[in-house]
Amino acid sequence: MDEIIPNLGKLRQTLDGLDGEIADLVSKRDAIAAKLIRQKGTAPYDPKREHEIAKRDEALWLPLLRRVRTAEGARLSEQPMKPGAFPDDSFVMIAGPCSVDEHLEATVAGIAEHGVRWLRAGAWKPRTFPWSFQGEGLPALRRLRAVADRFGMKVVSEVMSELDAHAAVELVDVVQVGARNAQNYALLKMLAGLGKPVLLKRGPSATIEEWLGAAAYLDGRVPVTLCERGVRGFDPCFRNLLDLAGAVLAKRLGGFQTIIDPSHGTGIAGLVAPMVHAARAAGLDGAILEAHACPEKSLSDADQALEIAELGRLMSDLLAITA
Ligand code: PEP
Ligand code: MN
Repeated sequence: MDEIIPNLGKLRQTLDGLDGEIADLVSKRDAIAAKLIRQKGTAPYDPKREHEIAKRDEALWLPLLRRVRTAEGARLSEQPMKPGAFPDDSFVMIAGPCSVDEHLEATVAGIAEHGVRWLRAGAWKPRTFPWSFQGEGLPALRRLRAVADRFGMKVVSEVMSELDAHAAVELVDVVQVGARNAQNYALLKMLAGLGKPVLLKRGPSATIEEWLGAAAYLDGRVPVTLCERGVRGFDPCFRNLLDLAGAVLAKRLGGFQTIIDPSHGTGIAGLVAPMVHAARAAGLDGAILEAHACPEKSLSDADQALEIAELGRLMSDLLAITA
C-alpha cells in the first residue's frame, strides 16, 4: 500500500503535466483558427451561428415533424412550395449515363436531340464493392461540364466527399447528394454553406422524417429538391422499391420540389417510363433517369439505362400528354 500511494501521486503529477500541455496546444490551435476565420470573413462552423440556426429551425420544423409522425400530412392542403433546384420547369427531365465514361459525347448528343436540358452523370461513384468502377473524379467532372456546355445543357452531378465539394460545386449547376450520403450531416452542413442548389436523394432505408430532417440542414440556405430513389424492399425482382406515396407525402409535408429516380428506384429499364408517367400524374415535379448511347457498355448500372430511342419515345409521350 505504502509503495502504491507515492506511485499514484507521481502518475497524477504526470497527468496534470500532460493536461497542461494539451491546454496550451488547444489555445494555440484556437488562436490559429481565429486568425483563419478573420482572413476568410466567415467561420465554416461557427458554433454560435449554428446554434442560432438550429433554434430557428427547431421552431419551424417541429410542428412539421409532428405531422409526419401522425401521418396527418396526407390530409393537409398543399404547403406553399419552396424554391427548388430546378426552377423553370413544370416537370423537369434529367437524363444521362450513370457514370462519365468513354461514350459520354455520343450519349449527350442523343439526349440533347430529344429536348432534355438537364444532364446527369457521376464522376465519383458510390459502389458496393471497391473493385467496381469508382469513377474518374474531378477530371471526369470537368469533362462532363465541357460536354454539357457544348450542347447548352445544365449539369447535375454527385459529390461524395467534403474533400471534393468545393471543386465540384464550381462545375455543376445542381449538386447531388446520393442515397448513401443522404444522412452525412457534415457534408450537408458544408453544402448548406456553398450556395449551390442541392438534389437530395432519399437514403435507402430513410423514413420520411429522416429524409425531411436531412433536408432541414439545407432548407433556407440553398434551394433543395428531394429525390425518391427507392427504398430497400423485400423482393429481389427490384433493385429498390420506388416509394411514390412517400414522395408525394414528403412533398406535401415539406413543401419541397420533389422528383423521382425510377432507374435506381426499380433497377429495370422497362419500368422507367411507366414510373415517370405515374410520378407526373401524382403531381410530382420531375424525374432523373439513366440513359446511355450503348447501355450494355456502361461501366455501371447497365441494366437500368434507357437506350436513346427509348428516352426519345418517353420525351415525346410526355409532350403529347402536355399538348
Ligand atoms: C446515382 O444517381 O448515380 C446514384 C448512385 O444514385 P443513388 O445515390 O440514388 O444510388
Ligand atoms: Mn447509377
